[in-house]
Amino acid sequence: MKVLSSTSELFPFIKTGGLADVTGALPKALGAFGVEVKTVLPGYPQVMPLLSDNPPLVVFNDLFGERAALHHVSAEGLDLFVIDAPALFDRSGGPYVDACGIDYPDNWKRFASLSLVTAEIANGLLPGWGPDIVHTHDWQSALTSVYMRQAGCSTPVVLTVHNLAFQGQYPAYLLGALGLSPNTYTIDGLEYYGDISYLKGGLTTADAITTVSPTYAREILAPRFGMGLQGVLRKRAGILRGIVNGIDRDIWNPETDHNLPVNYTVHDIDRKSANRLPLLERFNLDRDDGPVFAAVSRLTWQKGMDILVEVSGEIVSRGGKLIVLGQGDRSIEEALVASAACFPGRMAVELGYCEADAHLIHAGSDIIVQPSRFEPCGLTQLYALRYGTIPVVSRTGGLAETIIDANDAAISAGVATGFQFDPVDGSGLRDGIHRAYDAWRIPSIWRRLQKQAMQADFSWQRSAGQYAELYLELQKRHVRTEQRLVVA
Ligand code: ADP
Repeated sequence: MKVLSSTSELFPFIKTGGLADVTGALPKALGAFGVEVKTVLPGYPQVMPLLSDNPPLVVFNDLFGERAALHHVSAEGLDLFVIDAPALFDRSGGPYVDACGIDYPDNWKRFASLSLVTAEIANGLLPGWGPDIVHTHDWQSALTSVYMRQAGCSTPVVLTVHNLAFQGQYPAYLLGALGLSPNTYTIDGLEYYGDISYLKGGLTTADAITTVSPTYAREILAPRFGMGLQGVLRKRAGILRGIVNGIDRDIWNPETDHNLPVNYTVHDIDRKSANRLPLLERFNLDRDDGPVFAAVSRLTWQKGMDILVEVSGEIVSRGGKLIVLGQGDRSIEEALVASAACFPGRMAVELGYCEADAHLIHAGSDIIVQPSRFEPCGLTQLYALRYGTIPVVSRTGGLAETIIDANDAAISAGVATGFQFDPVDGSGLRDGIHRAYDAWRIPSIWRRLQKQAMQADFSWQRSAGQYAELYLELQKRHVRTEQRLVVA
């Protein structure tokens, strides 16, 4: 089975969040199921050095008015088609925003290019290679199925929604510039309140829609989490399913993680505490006892980081310390920094993105806090489990699904792995933090929680199996339809 994946982020080359982790790990996990994945990726500056001097597979003289070339390269166990289009992708900021955090004005064109090139590969651009299934991710590659259907290509498409909040909405007058026919601009197609929605285009033309947890798959059918697309999703509910994300157990492995001063396993969990001091030193915090709370996250309203600001004083006043690593909304960043200034030695905020620090934080802290207002899956809490760091999470989406709340019954049954709270506000988070604090003070209970957390299995194997099954279902249905067409 040959799958063509199309994504705007791919770990370890370019990452702003969980999307990259998933698109980077899934191809490797699918290999065990006989699925061969090739991934289409924009040629960002972080990606271009991977290319050799080999000539491109194809040259595009006019990709939305720009010159571009398609290269093939294998790196880090991943098989890539890289779109070399300097005018579109050779930028010094992030994949979506400039150095000041402002969206690039031509994102409509940049990600339409990703979709169009993917569609053309699906439609036979490369002699000798074509996919059985196309797998697109989020709005950035969601136009792929629109371009494919417009070109008469019926190869099955899976669209995975990693976060419904980002939809790729642009003015309707771009339709012609996008090379899309007026037929696509309908209420059952791309049209969205007078604009074009790339994600809606994908949702209405893909053969299967997945999202990254079954709970989120249910939640997005209702207005509270549907972000305006609940009606579209309800119509497509028959092809929507949730497949919970896994984690890359080689990259997030406390036994071998080279970012940790001291490695450990569930069998010598005492060694975890040797990472505490280096962590406190790294973030200039006092070295006294007391639990270390941490958050590694985009600093946004979605992630409830404003709620964390609200309760930071309480964490500190009970003898805890708080470390926050992240970047995001300016107002939340400023509020966190201001709060840290009130608690020198007790609270540290590092604005920025650092993979190595993220690993050290997961190993050296005691409690990871995730007060998300909505959370399609969430990976941070899964990494925390693997590192014996106990998550305190809001009861929503993938968080509700992956963390077993340490209520009395779950503790007695030996299955608890963390603390869930509800409602998602200051009072809820305060309650979750108090419960975690109380458990932390009883070493026997804490140790049990840590062991149960470390033994929770969120490997990709199970989830990759579900994707492989879905691909197979779609492939069989496609073959049957083609055969019927030939007979007719
Ligand atoms: P998102 O909604 O941002 O994708 P996830 O929990 O699914 O949330 O994934 C977030 C990923 O990004 C995790 O791998 C997390 O460790 C990482 N991450 C987030 N912020 C930072 C940061 N500032 N530095 C390093 N890694 C980060």
